[in-house]
Amino acid sequence: MEFQFSAGAIIYTYIDGIRHYLVLQREDWLDMPKGHIEKGEDPRSAAVRETREETGLDVSLDPYFKEKIAYWYFERKQKVKKTVTFYLSKTDVVDVNVSFEHIGYMWITLQNRPKLYKNMENLLKRADEYIDRLEEIKIINREYSELPGELKKWELSRNFVPGDGPVNAKVMVIGQAPGRFEDKQRKPFIGMAGKLLTLLLKKAGFERSEVYITSVVQFFPPDNRLPTDEEALCCLPFLKKQIEIIRPRLIVLLGNFATLNVDGSAAVMKNHGKLIKSREYGGYIFISLHPAAAVRMKKFVPLMEKDFANLKKLVKKGKLLD
Ligand code: ATP
Repeated sequence: MEFQFSAGAIIYTYIDGIRHYLVLQREDWLDMPKGHIEKGEDPRSAAVRETREETGLDVSLDPYFKEKIAYWYFERKQKVKKTVTFYLSKTDVVDVNVSFEHIGYMWITLQNRPKLYKNMENLLKRADEYIDRLEEIKIINREYSELPGELKKWELSRNFVPGDGPVNAKVMVIGQAPGRFEDKQRKPFIGMAGKLLTLLLKKAGFERSEVYITSVVQFFPPDNRLPTDEEALCCLPFLKKQIEIIRPRLIVLLGNFATLNVDGSAAVMKNHGKLIKSREYGGYIFISLHPAAAVRMKKFVPLMEKDFANLKKLVKKGKLLD
């Protein structure tokens, strides 16, 4: 059997306010922009290049959406297994210049679609659900970022630091609040604590790019102080909405503040490394220390490493994310 690897893009746009997806017409099937990943080329670049070659569209891909499909077919009597990695992109251009191997193109909706291969139909459904969540998160983020202008008393930074990661992540990581770096770059966990978090996630068997990272308070508290109860209370509804939208199977709580506010307990030193079934969120909660504490006090690093190595075992044993 021969193995082939392609990459492609699910392209969507809005026509009269309705979400449409681009499909390309081949002789007897409907395809999406995709093609062979060249030697030395990474799949994302291949998806962008193939989209340009097959449609004339210059796309910028969603940083996190990534779905694979696989199928088998015969080529010159040889059985081929083809794996295609699909990315996602929005476009405002609806006029498409298809390449020679296509007969034409169509903008289709999920509800009113022509016959596609089953795996493409499922792919489209997953993409559609992802975009729904992306848009819901966008609305929450907009409301949340306007909070400082709406409240009389606001002592936190006015820079909103949005959550980061795939909106369909199975794992959500919740910290305390952004730090100085995060405030400047408006990205969570990018300083030393962020580096440590990335390493710890690896120990638990996760790439950082597959988890959604956020915090209880998403504005930097001056001098890195602990947010007040009042501040936490005002930010919590937004965190809860993020949890509702992402629906993670596992929530990792980092440190006392996150544990207290999300789980209602403040016993991090007693409960770290344990997996708790959450009635409120429907999934599991895992508690550990805050990486910033381990950056300040190195003695906590091995303890956290042990927690996250344990998490890997617990996830595997309980088949939590399957
Ligand atoms: P690429 O676009 O990756 O360069 P290609 O144009 O050479 O690929 P495919 O689109 O993979 O070829 O088609 C090869 C065969 O696989 C055809 O017979 C086609 O009908 C079939 N095929 C295409 N897409 C799918 C799919 N999603 N599921 C199952 N079979 C498919």
